[in-house]
Amino acid sequence: MIEARNLTKRYAGRTAVDGLSFTARPGSVTGFLGPNGAGKSTTMRLALGLDAPTAGTVTVAGRHYGRLPAPLREVGALLDARAVHGGRTVRRHLLGLARSHGIPARRVDEVLDAVGLEAAADRRAAGLSLGMAQRLGIAAALIGDPGVLILDEPVNGLDAEGIRWIRTLLKSLASEGRTVFLSSHLMSELELTADRIIVIGRGRLLADTDMRDFIERHSPDSTLLRTPEPSRMRALLEDHGAVVRPDPHGGLRVTGLATTAVGDLAREHGLALHELTPRRASLEDIYTAVTGDAVEYRGSGTAEDDKETER
Ligand code: ADP
Repeated sequence: MIEARNLTKRYAGRTAVDGLSFTARPGSVTGFLGPNGAGKSTTMRLALGLDAPTAGTVTVAGRHYGRLPAPLREVGALLDARAVHGGRTVRRHLLGLARSHGIPARRVDEVLDAVGLEAAADRRAAGLSLGMAQRLGIAAALIGDPGVLILDEPVNGLDAEGIRWIRTLLKSLASEGRTVFLSSHLMSELELTADRIIVIGRGRLLADTDMRDFIERHSPDSTLLRTPEPSRMRALLEDHGAVVRPDPHGGLRVTGLATTAVGDLAREHGLALHELTPRRASLEDIYTAVTGDAVEYRGSGTAEDDKETER
């Protein structure tokens, strides 16, 4: 369990996290979504005791991170895959972590196997691709067999096979009863992985809900229709309160009226329909609609802006 209550972090002149409250529960993959600069990394750093909140609290496994007696056994984290001593081999790095917590060396082989890095065990960290470094970071997070996992943009740098792999891994870790909390600035990365979703923008909570509810609540009823009499159809629909606009791929796009009502209206007025298709906004559309005005403004030349342009 991860619990944030009125969590706030201010840096000189800038509020990175603003009165944020949420709970990430065991047994679920909770996606933490927000545009770049929204405050996701800061929230995770606060949860991991790497920074102190200006106000509010965040606990993992019921305690402040700093008060956990053996943190690696409670919480596994991947914040920055490149934050590994480059001269050390993959195995040495993991062995070092294991020793610091009295974890037996055989656990290193188990986690190497779990992330598919056995063949790279003797390679130096500096020579790993970003995708392999991400796998090493996940191996390190798993070493203490923790009940809580906190992963900052773990999909970054993984290829399509790697993305499928991490999805399966995270779901199976959650199904074992762990709390899996992962951030992303891309809705598409979370839609197939997360059961729950917490959306933030400019440090504030925008949504905290079941993934399916989120999609249903935010997707407007929309219908694509084709008719040989578009002007009459359009006038009729508008008279009944629908919003009608031409679809870029042809036909009319109707919102504000259920698909069944659109079909019934056409029949009542003797209008021919050549297509009547209910459409759901894509997750990416929904995300943009929810975070729209919460996106960081570009152009001030800060490091965050650069990061945003890169991704
Ligand atoms: P995200 O992970 O969602 O991209 P961050 O948590 O990295 O967002 O950043 C949130 C905001 O806080 C950004 O505007 C960022 O510039 C600012 N910020 C983050 N860390 C620091 C810091 N150490 N000093 C000053 N500002 C910071």
